[in-house]
Amino acid sequence: MRISDILKQDKITLSLEVFPPKTSERYEATAATAKEIAKLRPDFMSVTYGAGGGTGPFTAGIAAEIQEEYGVPTLAHLTCVSSSREHVLHMLDVYREKGIENILALRGDIPADGHVSEDYRYASELIRDIRSKGDFCLGGACYPEGHVECIHKKDDIRHLKEKVDAGLDFLTTQLFFNNDVFYNFLYRIREQDIRVPVIAGIMPITNAKQLARSAAMSGTDVPQKFRAIVDFFGEDPAAMQQAGIVYATGQIVDLIANGIRHIHVYTMNKPEVAAGIMKNLSAVLD
Ligand code: FAD
Repeated sequence: MRISDILKQDKITLSLEVFPPKTSERYEATAATAKEIAKLRPDFMSVTYGAGGGTGPFTAGIAAEIQEEYGVPTLAHLTCVSSSREHVLHMLDVYREKGIENILALRGDIPADGHVSEDYRYASELIRDIRSKGDFCLGGACYPEGHVECIHKKDDIRHLKEKVDAGLDFLTTQLFFNNDVFYNFLYRIREQDIRVPVIAGIMPITNAKQLARSAAMSGTDVPQKFRAIVDFFGEDPAAMQQAGIVYATGQIVDLIANGIRHIHVYTMNKPEVAAGIMKNLSAVLD
């Protein structure tokens, strides 16, 4: 099922993200984890894609298995920063053969060695290529606090508009911990006539290391209220996991109460965390 159709339904949607393994030895274990998460019956699941391109077959395999075995629609990510056009076209064939209709089209982070594709500089170029090669439903990434490489938010939103106009059906946000930042972002993009549905990305933080890593990679502001939680519970894994699930649940409840219809949870491949969120929201989502 196309995600654009899921987002048109008159309901609140909750989707869950998983990531593929880095090596084939880990494939079965990671696929089993992804299926545990699929059993929670989210509206759809997304499967990430290594920026280097090497995990592409695993992304396709896990996304296809979730659809076939659990009937949960999937969104397969695709990055271009390290890929040739030829490789991208090959991946589109793989996705098509596996029955994948939805792609999250991304540039990917610039690799540490600075070696980038000669064919792609920005996600918008990938989006134009995919659009010209088939009838996929296409999503893209957006950044409520601005993308880390772009100094001015205004420029980032101008680039986002270009990207959406290249052929996106929806956007998913980078994780954020402060909902006000997201409401402000929505206001600013709607003002620039970006009209596609925006799915709010929420990451439950379940340990202090994860917070440091995620905040550093995304440039996301960590509110004082959340810092205090991590300072207090960070040394106790069970308590920190519970507190992280509660904080994420609170964010989601606030989003829904403020009229946001579509939520995406970055599960970090932790079925118990995804289950905790779904359980907390069972009546809210009903
Ligand atoms: P772009 O939209 O191309 O933007 C990248 C930068 O270029 C921005 O600063 C933008 O302002 C700027 N820019 C865009 N167009 C122009 C232009 N015409 N001129 C000048 N500057 C321009 N990474 C992975 O490797 N695998 C994944 O599966 C993955 N999934 C993700 C899912 C979500 C929901 C999000 C939010 C991010 C994900 N990422 C993933 C991370 C993402 O790849 C990085 O954030 C990456 O640095 C930017 O990707 P993008 O598609 O947003 O790039």
